[in-house]
Amino acid sequence: MRRWNGWGDEATVVELPANGAAFLAGRIGAGQPLPDASLEQVLARVPASRLAAHPLISLDAETRVRHARGQSLPDWLAMREGDFGQFPDGVAFPETPEQIRQLLALAAERDLVLIPYGGGTSVAGHINPQAGERPVLTLSLAHMNRLLELDEDSLIATFGPGASGPQVESQLRARGYTLGHFPQSWELSTLGGWVASRSSGQQSLRYGRIEQLFAGGTLETFAGPMELPTFPASAAGPDLRELVLGSEGRFGVISEVRVRVSRLAEQESFYAVFLPSWEQALSGIRHLAQARVPLSMLRLSNAIETETQLALAGHPGQIALLEKYLALRGAGGWQVHADLRRHRQPDAERRLAETGQAPAEGLRWRVHRHLAGQEVGAQPLPLPLPAPRLVERRLRGGHPGNRHRLGQCRQPAGQDRGQSAQRS
Ligand SMILES: Cc1cc2nc3c(=O)[nH]c(=O)nc-3n(C[C@H](O)[C@H](O)[C@H](O)COP(=O)(O)OP(=O)(O)OC[C@H]3O[C@@H](n4cnc5c(N)ncnc54)[C@H](O)[C@@H]3O)c2cc1C
Repeated sequence: MRRWNGWGDEATVVELPANGAAFLAGRIGAGQPLPDASLEQVLARVPASRLAAHPLISLDAETRVRHARGQSLPDWLAMREGDFGQFPDGVAFPETPEQIRQLLALAAERDLVLIPYGGGTSVAGHINPQAGERPVLTLSLAHMNRLLELDEDSLIATFGPGASGPQVESQLRARGYTLGHFPQSWELSTLGGWVASRSSGQQSLRYGRIEQLFAGGTLETFAGPMELPTFPASAAGPDLRELVLGSEGRFGVISEVRVRVSRLAEQESFYAVFLPSWEQALSGIRHLAQARVPLSMLRLSNAIETETQLALAGHPGQIALLEKYLALRGAGGWQVHADLRRHRQPDAERRLAETGQAPAEGLRWRVHRHLAGQEVGAQPLPLPLPAPRLVERRLRGGHPGNRHRLGQCRQPAGQDRGQSAQRS
């Protein structure tokens, strides 16, 4: 079950390794643990709802707690302390566009504040109810998460807006396709939320940012449904999709999303490259981007991020070995680190080598990863360092839950999976 006061699923517990805690204490001082509020304490503080009973709306206190805050650092601190601020007065879980229209009509009639809610991973405070006289109704799209249509000629898939990252990928991968949109919040965020917040993913370099993937859909507004047609291209007038992208639910509720999908790649390869200086890394990355080497991900971490990520990943023995090796190769002291992901494109490596910096001066790890979340296997080059785990943790933002869910996406998805996806 999803945590009520923080990130992820209760079943996934990632402890901070001892050396990681020591590293952080050395950098920013000893932490001061905050008192953790219990769910019971928080439930006792939930005020009576200002909404009348309605068949589509839950007034249950725990449901209201679970939809009260996003996932920013201030949200996490507030939730852990039990200092939630405002709670929504009720949470609705529509299952059809028609039910969304009923809820919009109710909100207009009763002068309610209505907050569309996808996965609740907003870090901008947009799903947090504000104090005020008007009752607040949060509208969760969680039950509208099905793949409704897949046009294999045009490569356009139509989804319910509440499909989370794993639900999108599992339903597409079962048919041999991918959306390829992987924000770091992928595990919990939703397609409608990605559109409404103009989201960017880890592999947007290849597959496109959400504004390139979003092909059209339907917006339910107070004035009725607004259709956003799917054109291959148009020379006439403004693009209405731009009205919805990044709108944060201000103009209405997205009730259907059409996206451009891709056929699954036969193979993906991952590389982590360590380089001796920021300047050299910038030059290498710029070279790769300007040469339009067909990578799907190209991500540069500075020295502090590289050092911190490796320290928090644990494995101090392996890191010590790696440090020794990098020092020998003239890239000691965790200078900088770049992640590359490619799809059967052998020239990425050659282009990076052309810059004259890597892999000659850095350490290159080559990680082969058969598509769709199989356990990462690694062939360290050129030294057989037992380091693949470190690399693996960096992929997908280091969330073991994501790897687990990607693994699940590999299961053939029949009707049962579709059914369970609808309710999960
Ligand atoms: C750990 C972490 C990592 C993150 N990584 C990234 C990242 O890599 N890239 C990135 O771009 N963002 C990232 N984010 C921010 C956040 O995940 C994104 O903004 C995401 O797109 C929000 O999706 P959601 O489904 O959770 O939407 P929510 O948080 O539920 O809502 C976000 C906004 O969209 C509106 N909304 C949601 N659904 C609909 C709908 N159907 N119709 C109309 N309006 C709607 C809400 O009202 C709100 O204004 C990260 C956040 C966290 C906590």
